[in-house]
Amino acid sequence: MPLVIISGLPSSGKTTRAKEILNYFNDRFNRERQTNRIHLINDESLGISKDSYQDTRVDEQHSRGAMLSAVERLLSKDDLIIADGMNYIKGFRYQLYCVARAVGTPHCVVYCGVSIDTAREWNTKRGAEGYGSTVFNELVSRFEEPDDRNRWDSPLFTVLSDDTSVSCDAIWDAVIVRSPKPPNQSTVVKPASETSYLYELEKTTQEIVDAVLEAQKHNIGGGNVKIAGVNQQISFLLASVTILAYIRMCEA
Ligand code: ADP
Ligand code: MG
Repeated sequence: MPLVIISGLPSSGKTTRAKEILNYFNDRFNRERQTNRIHLINDESLGISKDSYQDTRVDEQHSRGAMLSAVERLLSKDDLIIADGMNYIKGFRYQLYCVARAVGTPHCVVYCGVSIDTAREWNTKRGAEGYGSTVFNELVSRFEEPDDRNRWDSPLFTVLSDDTSVSCDAIWDAVIVRSPKPPNQSTVVKPASETSYLYELEKTTQEIVDAVLEAQKHNIGGGNVKIAGVNQQISFLLASVTILAYIRMCEA
């Protein structure tokens, strides 16, 4: 049965979304199938407290190791796993994907795409339940956002902070029915609301920066750069545009 990999910043609503997916799959399995072996694996089920993130580098390795061995132990043709963790290192998501490959079962990634400010706000509201601010900032700075151009991050379902629910029907179709891959929710054009605005701005800016830097690798002395999803091209007269331009765009 499939491996559903959750990913997202600390306090970005991962466990909330994971439980929503768990309930959806439980209900639907009960209605449509005989088997109902679903496991939600997270820090709580593994007995890892937030205090153990004090020394992030050491303790996170422990947390990642515990997650990986639980997935290796439980994932099978008959058991569906929801791996509810930050899973923010792409190499680690690759390792999880390899476990699914080895079992011969599908996988997908569900990304809680909320802005850093929103995650920080939700984290603060948790009080003592949340992450300390130093740990929070460290985890945020090392986060490697899922990218569905990588096979281990695909199919990718992005849930925005103000989405009322996860697209569970689409996840079901992708990993149970295995119909053709649905569009990544983040690529479906919909108006950015106030809460998802910063996230969208940051993501779009990053896509433009990536396209410019990629073009510069092959182009000496300016030229045109094509941005995915946009008809017009950006023209550059300069030989190279530095990352400073990006920072200025963000500050503007
Ligand atoms: P994570 O598992 O990513 O650390 P949680 O699901 O435990 O995050 O949620 C962290 C906090 O954010 C909780 O206090 C929760 O009530 C709040 N929260 C989660 N999702 C939302 C949402 N969509 N809107 C507002 N608050 C939310
Ligand atoms: Mg959680």
